[in-house]
Parts: sequence; structure tokens; C-alpha cells
Amino acid sequence: MKRVTFPHMGMIHVPMEVLFRQLGIAYVVPPPCTSRSLALAARYSPETVCIPYKLVLGNFLEALDLGANHLILLAGPNNCRFGYYAKLQEMVLQELGYECHMLTPQISSRTINGVTDILRYLTDYRASTWDCLRALFLAISVLRDLDEVERKMQWVRAREMEAGAAEALFQQAGEALAQVDSLGALKAAKKEFLKKLDAVPMERDRKPLRVSLVGEIYVVHEPYINMNIERELSRRRVEVFRSEQLSQWLVLSPALILEAAGLGHEARIAHAARPYLEHIHGETVGQTIVAERDGFHGVIQLTPFTCTPEVVNQNVLFRLRREHDIPLMTIILDEQTGRSGFLTRLEAFIDLLERRRGDTEVRPRRLSLPIFR
Ligand code: SF4
Repeated sequence: MKRVTFPHMGMIHVPMEVLFRQLGIAYVVPPPCTSRSLALAARYSPETVCIPYKLVLGNFLEALDLGANHLILLAGPNNCRFGYYAKLQEMVLQELGYECHMLTPQISSRTINGVTDILRYLTDYRASTWDCLRALFLAISVLRDLDEVERKMQWVRAREMEAGAAEALFQQAGEALAQVDSLGALKAAKKEFLKKLDAVPMERDRKPLRVSLVGEIYVVHEPYINMNIERELSRRRVEVFRSEQLSQWLVLSPALILEAAGLGHEARIAHAARPYLEHIHGETVGQTIVAERDGFHGVIQLTPFTCTPEVVNQNVLFRLRREHDIPLMTIILDEQTGRSGFLTRLEAFIDLLERRRGDTEVRPRRLSLPIFR
């Protein structure tokens, strides 16, 4: 019997579960990323390969041990090294003796092809292409609504009176949305959790520091490898905004029209990056400029060690720092990144942002105080 698995990346398992359940496909959700999955994968990975490769391999190894025999991973040309990771991992797993089959929807820029063929194959061709499209539409709608609930959670979390209340609700929302079987049920679940988040006791008038997270999509979304930076910032009363959410990759909503007209979030990012990177995608660069324009107090770039696109971005960011007035901190992540050093840097960055904001606020008053003259 075919039993499929997929890698973790933040909450991506929620829409994936909906998709497979809709089509009656047996699946295994890998255990959450831990030091065990990383250590397991690092044993069979090239030392300097980027961390997404290692963690994805770790997820696959653990899921195969739980009975999965088909693996799904995007692949394809015009990407970074990610484009051939699926092939490499399939070879490694087969050499280790696993009987598994890698299924690779092809990704090029933001277009993903071959998904319905793979889904039909997994159902032994019981599902029609139309069935697959319907299931995909529901799964993408789940992803979009989960992102909306998460945005609300990020806002509440920086203002809540009892630490952890908003995040606990968001976890419950993830579990509830993974079970929906229709657009009606999805709408009701989303409404319920938005209402619950609104009822969390909080200081509504608080004006927390606002930080935008930019960088490589995997490490920005996967809390295990980014040491749950969003939670750490929120505990320090900072409102975190992820410049790119997963549903922005798969837009089916009116946002698509805005993007086509050059007015959507992605179009703004691409336009902002153009003076710095004419010929290649410079999302980190564009996201940083857009964060400044949107009034964020600071930007944190998350980048895996040896990540090729982010190395290019980092070099552009030197120039950008001279031309734009927004504090920017880069954090490089791999399995050697130490937690204490990470937290110390985070706290120093928050101190800097607080002082900058404080400076701006007291500057007009300073003129009337003789002591400062
Ligand atoms: S973007 Fe960077 S970290 Fe991500 S897969 Fe490509 S090389 Fe690796």
C-alpha cells in the first residue's frame, strides 16, 4: 500500500493533511524536527550542505521508519541547489536500504507543475483530475486562513497579559483546521479562532517594537532551526511579522489580481529590489526595503550557513545599509549555532531598537532641557 510523507516547514503539515485526507491517501506526518532528526541526517549528509537539506532528510528517515514508502519533495531547474536535493536524497536513502519512491512536483519560480498527476498516482487513479483540483483548492484555502489566524496571533502575542495564551490558541487552530472537510467548516473554524484571539486579555493600546523577519524561506518558517525566534521576540514584547508567508506562494485569492497589477506585496518586494539586483530574485533585499517603508523598527535576516542566494543578498545588504536607515541584523543558522549566543544577540538588537525609538521620542524635548545644551 502506498503511504506518503513530506518534510516539515512550519505549519505546512496542516494543509497537507487536509489534502491527503480529502483524497483518501494514506500518509505519515514525520515527527517534529528535533536534534534527533538533525543528528540522524547529518550522519548521511555532505558536511557543508545547507541545513534545509539535512532537516528534510531527517524528516524522511524518521517517516520511513514509521511506515512511509513514498516521499514528496519539490525539485526542478532554475532554483538553487534545492533543485537537485530530491534526487540526491533518494539515492542516499536507497543506498541505506530503504525501499522508497521519491515524487517530485516541478517548481520553477513560483509555478508548481505535476501535482495532480502525483495525487492521482497516489490514489491508484481512483481520483479524477477534478477531484484532485477540488482537494487542492481546499488545502490552499486552509493554508491561507491559517496564515490569517497566525497574523492575528502575532499581533495579540506582543500585547497579551499572560504569556503564551495566544500561541496556545494558535496551536489549537492548527489542529482544528487540519480536520476540516469543506469550505464551510473552514470558514466557521477560522471565525471561531479569530474571535477567541480577540478575547485574549491584552494591552490593546501598547505600541510594541515591530520587527520584520526576512531571508531564506525554510529557516524563516521552521521554528526548530530558527530557535523559535518569533516566540523569543514576542516574550521580549516585540511584534514579529514574517515578510513572506507560505500562502503567498500559492495565491488563489483577489491578491493575485493585485500582484498582476504590480500592487501586491510580492510585486512591491520585487520592485524595491530592482535597483540592487537587476537580473535575479532578491527577496531579502526587497523585503528589507519594504519593511523600512512600512515603518518597521528593525529587520532580522535569517540565513542558512552556505546558502547561495543569501550569500548574494548579504553582499548587497552592505550597500543597502549605507543607503537606508533601518537596523538590520543577520543570523546565520546551522546545527552548530549556539542558543546562548543567539539570545544575547537578539537582546542586544532589541536594546538598540529601543534606544533608537527612545531617541526619536525625546529629541524634541531635549532642546528645552538646559542640561543637554
Ligand atoms: S535557498 Fe539556500 S538554504 Fe535554501 S535550499 Fe537553496 S541553497 Fe539551501
